Amino acid sequence: MVISGPSGSGKGTLCSRLLQRRPEIVVSVSATTRERRAGEIEGKNYYYISQEEFASRIREGLFLEYAQVFDQYYGTPRDKVLEQLQENRDVILEIDIQGAMQVKKAYSQAVFIFIVPPSMQVLKERIMNRDRESIEEIERRLRESKKELTYIDQYDYVIINDKIETAVDKLEAIILAEKCRSRHISASDIEFSEEELR
Ligand code: 5GP
Repeated sequence: MVISGPSGSGKGTLCSRLLQRRPEIVVSVSATTRERRAGEIEGKNYYYISQEEFASRIREGLFLEYAQVFDQYYGTPRDKVLEQLQENRDVILEIDIQGAMQVKKAYSQAVFIFIVPPSMQVLKERIMNRDRESIEEIERRLRESKKELTYIDQYDYVIINDKIETAVDKLEAIILAEKCRSRHISASDIEFSEEELR
C-alpha cells in the first residue's frame, strides 16, 4: 500500500495511529539524505545517510523507488520491502507522489491511497503549528501542496483527514476491503478445491 499526501495532511500521524491498532502491519523505513530532526530515531523514522551513500545505493539498484523532495533525497529499500511481502505481511510505503508513480509503473497490484486535509486553511495551520519550517519553507510547501492535489485521480482511494480517528477507521476499512478482493483469495483459504472455487 502506498500512502501519499501533501506536507501537513497528517499522513505520518495516520500511519502511526494505524500501527497502534494493527501492529502486524509494516511501515517501510526509508533512507534519506536530510538531517535527523529532534526526536527522530535512526532506523525507526529513517535511515540517515550521506548524499554519496545515497548515490551509490541508486547505482547498485538498492531502491524500490527514490525521489528528490524539498532538496533532499528519499528512497525505499527494495530488499526489506520484498522480504516482508514474501512473508505475506501488509507493507505501507509513506512516500511522495513521484515515488508513488514509480511504484505504480513497477507494481500495478499495489493500492494507492491519497491523504488530504479538509481545507487549505487547515493545511496552512497544521504546517505553521508544528513550528518546524521557516516562513519561506512553509510557503514553498503550501505551493507544492496545491500542485500535489492535482494528482488525486492517480490514486485508488482518498481519505479526507478531518478527524484523525475517523481517518484511521477509513484506512483500516480500505485495508480490510482490499484483502477481500477475489484475486487475494485462493482455494487454500477456504475448504474448496481449485475447480469448485473457479
Ligand atoms: P519529511 O522530510 O517531512 O519526513 O518527508 C518529506 C516528504 O518525503 C514526505 O512527503 C514523505 O512522504 C516523502 N518521503 C519519505 N520517504 C520517502 C521515500 O522513501 N521515497 C519517496 N519518494 N518519498 C519519501
